[in-house]
Amino acid sequence: MDYSQFFNAALNRLHDERRYRVFADLERIAGRFPHAIWHSPKGQRNVVIWCSNDYLGMGQHPKVVGAMVETATRVGTGAGGTRNIAGTHHPLVQLEAELADLHGKEASLLFTSGYVSNQTGISTLAKLIPNCLILSDALNHNSMIEGVRQAGCERQIFRHNDVAHLEELLIAAGPDRPKLIACESLYSMDGDVAPLADICDLAEKYGAMTYVDEVHAVGMYGPRGGGIAERDGVMHRIDVLEGTLAKAFGCLGGYIAAKAEIIDAVRSYAPGFIFTTALPPAICSAATAAIRHLKTSNWERERHQDRAARTKAILTAAGLPVMSSDTHIVPLFVGDPEKCKRASDLLLEDHGIYIQPINYPTVAKGTERLRITPSPYHDDSLIDALADALLQVWERLGLPVGKKALAAE
Ligand code: PMP
Repeated sequence: MDYSQFFNAALNRLHDERRYRVFADLERIAGRFPHAIWHSPKGQRNVVIWCSNDYLGMGQHPKVVGAMVETATRVGTGAGGTRNIAGTHHPLVQLEAELADLHGKEASLLFTSGYVSNQTGISTLAKLIPNCLILSDALNHNSMIEGVRQAGCERQIFRHNDVAHLEELLIAAGPDRPKLIACESLYSMDGDVAPLADICDLAEKYGAMTYVDEVHAVGMYGPRGGGIAERDGVMHRIDVLEGTLAKAFGCLGGYIAAKAEIIDAVRSYAPGFIFTTALPPAICSAATAAIRHLKTSNWERERHQDRAARTKAILTAAGLPVMSSDTHIVPLFVGDPEKCKRASDLLLEDHGIYIQPINYPTVAKGTERLRITPSPYHDDSLIDALADALLQVWERLGLPVGKKALAAE
């Protein structure tokens, strides 16, 4: 049997649909964010990264790097086991306390990644609730969708951010049925925000539990970086808050924060928590340093918002099709997978600007885009250079600018 034929056929399907992914080999330079080296097929090039999820540059912050180096030097590299088997080390316990405090919850629980937090967190919670009905936002991230699927219980999808539709489903489910509402606070491809207060109102009225993914908001919103829920004053009304250490906190790992018994139950039953090695101590110390820094420093948050606003304003003034976004995400509409990939390639090769194309299935077909994420360290001259480069690329690819661009979107 020629097994290769199956894999080649699968890859060819992606090529045919123009959505075969190519990863650029990048080397970030500590202290020079957002500048990096691109190890291209033709040799090394200096590039500027415009699509990093290290939103605040904390992955290179001296306090964070220092904590990682200090801990690795003092205690070594790996955790040495699963949480149950010698892997519960002190920096991890400290980090869980820090996260519980960040979200005003009794406890928190760490996972290998934000992906695993959602996948194993949602499925475990729903399995522990008899006859649970999951109500899931239509644009939830794949990790939540997988968690919902693995829960094996009934699920219904409510239209994105549509509280009227959510209410219809809650009413139809009846007051006695246990219900879990799962949504994100900030949707990373469009940059829009969930009406969390309205969702909490509904959850309280109809007796549902709430699970909110704050992956793209923790560290960046709220006076202490507790996320959109903190900003909107509803943190205490949400049952389970989920976040990542890999974006604004610049490290790796995911977590949930909730009441003690919820965390204890997930800790005791979630396979994705139980059967895997704990996060390394150095990562935990670095994340703790980032969280502590962002609990008191507003500079990164304010400058981040300022840079995002300026980027949107400059690109919009240049006639580029900036999609509406309420947050730090700056999506630029392309609407064609091949042109999206070409635009990304031209930006990198001709202008030293790295922005990964966003194609199906990450976004719906026909809404392909470049997803730009400015950081506190993208200065005015970098923003101007980005606008110039985009205009040249748009012209070269025959993509619309000005009024035509808005009509195309
Ligand atoms: N939730 C959302 C909404 C995400 O966008 C992502 C990843 N980008 C995750 C969860 C997974 O987080 P992590 O990268 O920490 O696995």
